[in-house]
Amino acid sequence: MSGLITEPTDDIRRFMARDHRLFIDGLWVAPGSNRLIEVENPSTEEVIARLHSASLADLDRAVAAARGALDGPWGRMPPAARAKLMYRLAGLMEAAALDLGQLSTLENGMPLWMSMDKLAAFCPELVRYYAGWCTKVTGDTLPAVPLRGEGDDWLVYTLKQPVGVVGAIIPWNAPASMITLKAAPALAAGCTMVLKPAEMTPLLAIRFTELIEEAGFPAGVFNLVQGYGDDIGDGIARHPGIDKVAFTGSTAVGKAIVRAAADDLKRVSLELGGKSPFIVCADADLDVAAPSAAAACFFLSGQNCMAGTRLFVEESIAEEFEERLVAAAATFTLGDGFAPGTMIGPVISAKQLARVKGFIDEAESVGARRIFGGNVPGGKGHFVEPTVFADVTPDMRLAREEVFGPVLAVQRFSQDNERELLARVNGTTYGLSGSVWTRDIGRALRLAKHVDSGQVGVNAHAAVSPETPFGGNKQSGWGREFGREGLDAYLKTKAVSVNLGPHLGG
Ligand code: NAP
Ligand code: MG
Repeated sequence: MSGLITEPTDDIRRFMARDHRLFIDGLWVAPGSNRLIEVENPSTEEVIARLHSASLADLDRAVAAARGALDGPWGRMPPAARAKLMYRLAGLMEAAALDLGQLSTLENGMPLWMSMDKLAAFCPELVRYYAGWCTKVTGDTLPAVPLRGEGDDWLVYTLKQPVGVVGAIIPWNAPASMITLKAAPALAAGCTMVLKPAEMTPLLAIRFTELIEEAGFPAGVFNLVQGYGDDIGDGIARHPGIDKVAFTGSTAVGKAIVRAAADDLKRVSLELGGKSPFIVCADADLDVAAPSAAAACFFLSGQNCMAGTRLFVEESIAEEFEERLVAAAATFTLGDGFAPGTMIGPVISAKQLARVKGFIDEAESVGARRIFGGNVPGGKGHFVEPTVFADVTPDMRLAREEVFGPVLAVQRFSQDNERELLARVNGTTYGLSGSVWTRDIGRALRLAKHVDSGQVGVNAHAAVSPETPFGGNKQSGWGREFGREGLDAYLKTKAVSVNLGPHLGG
């Protein structure tokens, strides 16, 4: 796939240069605010697109349109017809994969092969997975006899109904998956949506919205309002016309959203940050574990909520493993996403680069041993080398806080003290992902059971799939996405109790 093109196509250049609009009630409309959004290519620092933010009045119109669709044709549409639209959308996403892939690389910086292979291919499958659910949402009939119902016949059943209007707020780190992961289950459940992409990555969202339009979803089902977190994001969290906020982003903003959404107690689901452990026991297959450890941390330049950023290696193999890590890290060629051979791109912004560098400098100053990378190459682009620190101790900031950059922190553990290992592994405020690497089945399953996180891999890290629930414990979030649970997050249960009258024969 990466051999396809080595620079943006003319079509995509024209797309980026054009006048970008909001999508409200089935129409592309000019933004009502003059607050400017400049989209930067983080590999070149060029401004690749300029657009204006939605105003709060635009947001009101988008919410009203989403409500109207729910009360109108969308709400009355048979589930099979909803599924058909979603299948059509999946096909259109495949047909537009090169556009989506390029935009993702241009606004986010990730390598094009990754945008294409991992995201453009994965996202249509996720849409199809949820399209399949449309016709399989069912309630239960319950063998219930309500209190004081004795003597009567009863029919008690539950209906699963869409939660309503969903406000989705997403980050910039994986634009295609983030949009799909919000839209697909919400649409399958019969909800409508107002989406605010991150202001740094609004372009893929615009192209995706064109595909929604082309697929033929009724007006108002999906609305796009580009804007900043502090006005449009906050506006969504507070909006009385929104029934649920679906948020992915940082833990700090997640807390702000919960506070803002508290006034009308709207539902909130949160996919937040992480500091996930990657545990390597001495008997692991090191040929697989070492490159996997590097990939688990450096994937998406470390800007990945599941990143395995805390590596715990058993004392007896630590030295050898650290050498293998260095060799694996050296294969992560840094570069522009369009350049053949690029394994990882830049971090998203100058601000993010300064933050990552701050972590690196501080780790060094408090005695962590840098065994690979750590430098910021000169020239254009927010590049930082993949970096590995050994001799990290639990008190260091690098062992506790999410860097959201390609920095791996290695700690050692001794075989005879699993309890102490688990105390360290679980000693953070996060609990999103993690993995255990060993050939000892008992040890693998014991550790997997006790790692406090929403999902754990055994001899695999971040093994995400449409069927498998994903989400965080502790301050990594509320709720689960993907799978049946990801659909349930957009449904509400209604219980209907029908008094059928006296038993036959009294
Ligand atoms: P962020 O700052 O929390 O931003 C996420 C989104 O929230 C953006 O659209 C942002 O808008 C918006 N926002 C900012 N302030 C807001 C407010 N007061 N009210 C409502 N919305 C607001 O996160 P980020 O720095 O973009 O992304 C990195 C974080 O996301 C990391 O912590 C990472 O772990 C997490 N993440 C988690 C997952 C997961 O599934 N668990 C996946 C990916 C990323 P603007 O940026 O446009 O201002
Ligand atoms: Mg932000």
